[in-house]
Amino acid sequence: AATSATGAKPTPMMEQYLALKQEAEGCLLFYRMGDFFELFFDDARDAAGVLDIALTSRGEHGGEPVPMCGVPVHAAEGYLARLIKAGRRVAIAEQVETPDEAKARAKREGTPSSKALVKRDIVRFVTAGTLTEEALLEPRRANMLAAIAEVRGAIGIASCDISTGAMVLEECEPGQLGAVLARIGASELVAAEELECGIDDVIERPRHEFSSDDGEARLKKLHGVATLDGFGTFSRAMLAAAGGLIAYLEHVGRGSLPLLLPPALRASGQAMLMDEATRASLEILAAQNGGREGSLMAAIDRCVTGAGARLLAEDLSSPLLDRASIEARLALVHWLHVDPLNRAQLREAMRAVPDLGRALGRLVAGRGSPRDLGQVRDGLSDARRIGEMLGALPDTPALLAELLPRLTGHGALTDLLDRALVSSPPTERQSGGYIAEGYDASLDELRAISGNARRAIAAMEARYRDDTGITALKIKHNGVLGYFIEVPAKHADALMAPDSGFTHRQTMAGAVRFNSVALHEEATRIAEAGGRALAAEEAHFEELVAEVCARATPIATTAATLARIDVSAGQAERAAEGGWCRPDIDERPMLDITAGRHPVVEAALARQGERFVANDCSLSTFDRLWLIGGPNMGGKSTFLRQNALIVLMAQAGGFVPADSATIGLVDRLFSRVGASDNLARGRSTFMVEMVETAAILSQASERSFVILDEVGRGTSTYDGLALAWAVVEAVHSTIQCRCLFATHYHELARLADSCEALSLHHVRAREWKGDLVLLHELSEGPADRSYGLAVARLAGVPNPVVKRAKQVLDKLEKGRAETGGLAAGLGELPLFATLADEEEVDPADSVTIRLSDTDLDALSPREALEFLYELKRMA
Ligand code: ADP
Repeated sequence: AATSATGAKPTPMMEQYLALKQEAEGCLLFYRMGDFFELFFDDARDAAGVLDIALTSRGEHGGEPVPMCGVPVHAAEGYLARLIKAGRRVAIAEQVETPDEAKARAKREGTPSSKALVKRDIVRFVTAGTLTEEALLEPRRANMLAAIAEVRGAIGIASCDISTGAMVLEECEPGQLGAVLARIGASELVAAEELECGIDDVIERPRHEFSSDDGEARLKKLHGVATLDGFGTFSRAMLAAAGGLIAYLEHVGRGSLPLLLPPALRASGQAMLMDEATRASLEILAAQNGGREGSLMAAIDRCVTGAGARLLAEDLSSPLLDRASIEARLALVHWLHVDPLNRAQLREAMRAVPDLGRALGRLVAGRGSPRDLGQVRDGLSDARRIGEMLGALPDTPALLAELLPRLTGHGALTDLLDRALVSSPPTERQSGGYIAEGYDASLDELRAISGNARRAIAAMEARYRDDTGITALKIKHNGVLGYFIEVPAKHADALMAPDSGFTHRQTMAGAVRFNSVALHEEATRIAEAGGRALAAEEAHFEELVAEVCARATPIATTAATLARIDVSAGQAERAAEGGWCRPDIDERPMLDITAGRHPVVEAALARQGERFVANDCSLSTFDRLWLIGGPNMGGKSTFLRQNALIVLMAQAGGFVPADSATIGLVDRLFSRVGASDNLARGRSTFMVEMVETAAILSQASERSFVILDEVGRGTSTYDGLALAWAVVEAVHSTIQCRCLFATHYHELARLADSCEALSLHHVRAREWKGDLVLLHELSEGPADRSYGLAVARLAGVPNPVVKRAKQVLDKLEKGRAETGGLAAGLGELPLFATLADEEEVDPADSVTIRLSDTDLDALSPREALEFLYELKRMA
């Protein structure tokens, strides 16, 4: 007990606890006491709050009662899951010797055995990024851990999902770190202490762990290679990050490492770049409220396995930039799309496949069970069968031909596991019974011995009944007595007689229990054989796990291949469900979408029995910026986002919700919303808006796609309009990327006069019998009027107020007509781009420049005609 007199020395147990707590470094300490993990002091207060369990106290420390709470060991996983979810990290301190061992040790050390304290050690840290337990992981979400290091100005990032062993190394400039981390979405992040990376919630680790030499050495050792060249050419910063990552894993695993596959090099420029604000506003993996519901992922995920869903999330987080790879994925989706029967059969077969990758992860981490071995066996044989099924079909697309061989080649291992394991092995190995009959003759023999002995006991029961004439006599078994003979109390006397051959063991209320020599013999036989059988099974388990670990990399490859096939089949399924099309991928900076839809809004409307109005979008070099006006709630945001999402989905290698789509590859996607609900993040709305917009202006390229929704809304009309104006000009004339810009500022329409690649569009609305009807239909030309008052009426603003507003509006509009309005004179401002070089350009020169800048062979006939008109205007 922790009791001590006020101010007195802490008890030995408290000393031990405090030392372990020190070692736990900011983690909650789970201190094993018998069948409970106990928490003390602030840990107890914190955990009791998070877990909603009783806070009690135990003994005293420093004159104060010690707050305490506890969770039963057998139910610890559930509690751990809740603590991890709430952002805590936990250190598990186990008893590493039995009370008997402790007493023996105390005797050796000369301390009184009454004072003997069982030795405890932290055996493991449980942290959000280092979980492997099935119960603690979400099946459809990857669980990432990332480490950041800096070497001479370059930032290295190492990330891994230890539940499957996947590991990726990459590098970026300091300014890109936020975007890279947003893509990875790590649940835990580590960095060297004092690294100024501007990222919150980083776990700081000693600097020396982030050395590139160490990192390289660790990776080589881990994968048994003399050089890393076979995996890729990694920079110093990447290796330093890898070093930090492995050191951290070693720390939390107390020296033992989980599954880490050979690192993959992720080249910058391999994936479309999206920053955190873009990901959040497009609601790719999570909706604005943080949940999955309402996200793009939820709307398109039709994967039947957890591994498939994890891979789809990764695809959507990092759309490809390489046309050939995108086309390869699309061809596979297409192949599965045109053949619904085979697709259904494939998905049915896939549905039964266990989570091979995660079972492997647990086995390598030393936390595997017989059931995990069974999952590896089943997963690998399923993979082979699925491979055979797909291989038998005609017109195999190239990607599939590449994938098929990765589904096989595990014959020897599956044969071994087939022979060794029972059909559904248990998750616990304490009671054995998972090694199949016929695998090991000596094990079978041991089992036969206990089987025979059990039969002998059954026969013995019958014989004793005959001999004693007591039909109610039974031979039973329990954990305390082992096997015993039980008779009702009224018959006990006969067995009590000294020469009866029975010895008394226990008297119960209505029954008396006995032993006999013969029974004892058989019972011993069972116990001995049972113990040896358990030991034999245990040894087989270890061997089998070793066999699996030796093939970890090829097994992980098979798991990844199954996931890719599931993703493709899911994409095909979703496309068939929604009538989606296969996009054409183009290298030119253009976009041509007919009858595009927003997958999330469409699904939400369908649930209410409403129809989504499809809209076209067509951008080209000559018409690359669409300014979209129209009433609030008219569908502007939806239109902007649906086009961004279609681009993203296409480059992720999937079909898109449209009748047809040609997608000119997009290198970076930006989405900005002039939001009014960002206040919670502490910076003023307008500040956030401007910081994020500034990022576009500095990072977007000619090949980027930008959607801007009501930018400028967060400030006064004049400021807002002025900024929106300047941003449109900059995007149009300096960045020259594709852009959709939604605004309620009519005045911006004047930009059409000075920006030749800008066109005006609006969402249509009609007033009908005094009511506003929103058509959600996009039309060419400027918005004719604002409908603000009609929207106000729609929203339930009382009639007299709307009437009064109408009077005010008329007055304002009259004034505007007389003075030229808010944007009076803006048309005469020199264009944004020419502000920079100030010089007057001769029209003849500009025609020449325009001509030499244009690849005439890349123009369609219509574009060529438009081009001619443009030159004509310039001349
Ligand atoms: P805005 O940005 O113009 O204020 P939103 O894009 O937010 O308008 O759309 C408002 C609502 O109108 C959406 O929540 C959706 O229910 C509906 N809506 C938008 N676009 C469409 C469409 N194309 N077809 C049908 N309903 C739509």
